[in-house]
Amino acid sequence: MNYISTRGHNCAVTSARAIIKGLAEDGGLFVPENIPIIDEKFLTSLLDLSYQERAKKILSLYLTDFTAEEINPCVDNAYTTEKFDTDKIVPTVEVEKNNYLLELWHGPTSAFKDMALQLLPQFISTSLKKLGDKDELVILVATSGDTGKAALDGFKNVDQTKILVFYPQEGVSKIQRLQMLTQQGDNVSVFAVKGNFDDAQSGVKQIFSDSKYNEYLNEKGFKLSSANSINWGRLLPQIVYYFSAYADLVNDKKITMGDKVNFTVPTGNFGDILAGFYAKCMGLPVNRLICASNSNNVLTDFLKTGTYDRNREFFKTISPSMDILISSNLERLLYHITNDATKIKSYMEKLQSTGCYQVDEVTLKAIQETFSAGYLDDNATKKCIHDIYQQDNYVADTHTAVAWQVAQDYQKSTQDKTPMVVLSTASPYKFSDSVLSALGEDISDKDEFALLDKLSTLNKDKIPQGLAQLQSLPILHNNLCAKEDMIKAVNTFLNI
Ligand SMILES: *Cc1c(COP(=O)(O)O)cnc(C)c1O
Repeated sequence: MNYISTRGHNCAVTSARAIIKGLAEDGGLFVPENIPIIDEKFLTSLLDLSYQERAKKILSLYLTDFTAEEINPCVDNAYTTEKFDTDKIVPTVEVEKNNYLLELWHGPTSAFKDMALQLLPQFISTSLKKLGDKDELVILVATSGDTGKAALDGFKNVDQTKILVFYPQEGVSKIQRLQMLTQQGDNVSVFAVKGNFDDAQSGVKQIFSDSKYNEYLNEKGFKLSSANSINWGRLLPQIVYYFSAYADLVNDKKITMGDKVNFTVPTGNFGDILAGFYAKCMGLPVNRLICASNSNNVLTDFLKTGTYDRNREFFKTISPSMDILISSNLERLLYHITNDATKIKSYMEKLQSTGCYQVDEVTLKAIQETFSAGYLDDNATKKCIHDIYQQDNYVADTHTAVAWQVAQDYQKSTQDKTPMVVLSTASPYKFSDSVLSALGEDISDKDEFALLDKLSTLNKDKIPQGLAQLQSLPILHNNLCAKEDMIKAVNTFLNI
């Protein structure tokens, strides 16, 4: 099966090539030429398998140019029980009758990004070997916190790759900073940038688009690449857990094979929920996908009206990983719904030039056949964290709480009784200050490790090992650069 661009049909490539390239030459995103279809026999075959074995079966439907001998070690290296703190890798927890949380944060950095970023580097390294590419891939990341650590951990010591993360000097929490500065591995580096997240991000973008500098790097045997969610290799691993959740619900006799379920997904870049759309198209019995946003509710408006308009106030919220006004992966959905690359190209050009586009009535109807949407502001998010703890004795993080409440609101307004799986995207320990204050705790003059302890008491659970050990790990990185000097930082890192 080949991969084509959402903006044109003329550049079909294998999955290995699509993963190395990241973005298609015409600026579009790679999508599978056709979506593989499964049947009930396939679903039944997943029931008795581990998460890793389920992953191998599903991934091989898309990575048709990979052999089993290539896919299997990728999965086995990514989802180990040393890295994940549960054998199940992604457990499904029944919080209220017929309402489940899919916990995606049991990985090494306690963030759902681990699900994809543990596997993507394995795919990249394998793809380079398959294609006989001798270059070393240099991954540049600008992070506002979570992605940087998850990417560092996923790429550390992976063959033929190097990773350099830039974070804003004043823009990340103490825990996030420590997570990055204690990162081990022979091929990793971290730089603080004097500036904010936008400075770090535009610096990275400038390096990517500097063709002279890229030529220079190529001469030295390096190729730049990124680890963000426009890469097919980052989206693909996320399809697996929709299937795995379904299989778990059947195994636990919560549903019968063939029953439909709903999924509610806390959404930023539209990657996670799009993986659910692929699962539904493949034949997983999904009734509706509900898109949950915070006050940056550009997607709620789009899914209700068909107008995507990023010209609006930007809010910094307590669910920062969803503070996004341009949801890149929406482009893939629009392509699959319309099958019309010319149309997608014109939408994306309008978005680029005016910040706004409107899809036609037929397209909107087709999207609304599957998707619903809702959003929650910070106060309602805090109330939800409080309520789930009171009613269900469950401590949810801020992103999960947004989705949980949007799911409840959906059920109330539609009376849809389909079993609901809400995707839980971060451990509450990653956002312990917001979570504790939502629970009514006084957090003034407590340092971040004291907050972890406090939360652990309320949660009656251990602090995740990756966070608990931060106090005792040595600091390995101590680099600072001006935003004008980021290229120098890359050169220093690559020793050129
Ligand atoms: C990245 C992230 C999201 C949003 O996921 P998308 O794939 O960008 O929609 C939600 N919650 C958390 C905690 C995240 O880190």
